[in-house]
Amino acid sequence: MPNVLISDFDGTITEKDFYQLLVERYIPRDAPDYLGLYRMGKMSHFEAMAKYFSHAPTDEASLQQLITDTRPDPRFVESVSKLKAAGWELIIVSAGSSWYIDRILKKVGVNVPVHANPGRIVPRRGLVIERPFDSPFYNEQTGISKRDVVLEALRRGAKVYYAGDGSPDIDPAMLVRPERRFARRYLAEYLGRCREGFNEFETWSEIVDELLR
Ligand SMILES: [Mg+2]
Repeated sequence: MPNVLISDFDGTITEKDFYQLLVERYIPRDAPDYLGLYRMGKMSHFEAMAKYFSHAPTDEASLQQLITDTRPDPRFVESVSKLKAAGWELIIVSAGSSWYIDRILKKVGVNVPVHANPGRIVPRRGLVIERPFDSPFYNEQTGISKRDVVLEALRRGAKVYYAGDGSPDIDPAMLVRPERRFARRYLAEYLGRCREGFNEFETWSEIVDELLR
């Protein structure tokens, strides 16, 4: 039975969410609270992300700076190597965009499957994301259904572990056994409130240390 770690990206592998950096640096303070509107059911998560990403700068230097400032776990590369050497599969799932995820992974030389919304930088339009209609995991709300990625791994008989930090991680995390859930921030608070079991983590590499112990 293969061991599979399915992991969120923003705020889980990185310290900061890409959209959050845009809010801090590029989005006018009087702009609508898009995620708030999403929580009230007034827009989909995908639409909220598309709004935030439309404020992304389009010059290479600013984009590079943003990518650096997401601060991926400093032990990410080493941890992925150890995980792979031990026969584990790692799958990244994100309701953000593969535009920056792929760039970050390429920069550090990590090659793993990523399920996220494709995107491209367009002058005056920022980071334009597209719905991944071709993906077997397509979902209207988030673009990619993390839940369906977890279900697919469970169906093929894998031992599935899940790591995340946000609200789109609740459903997929609930599909795996409590001892196979890793959570921080919003997801940890939520699971705690619901009296659901999970392992709390500070940095992504700690999860790998724990899994390979
Ligand atoms: Mg996240």
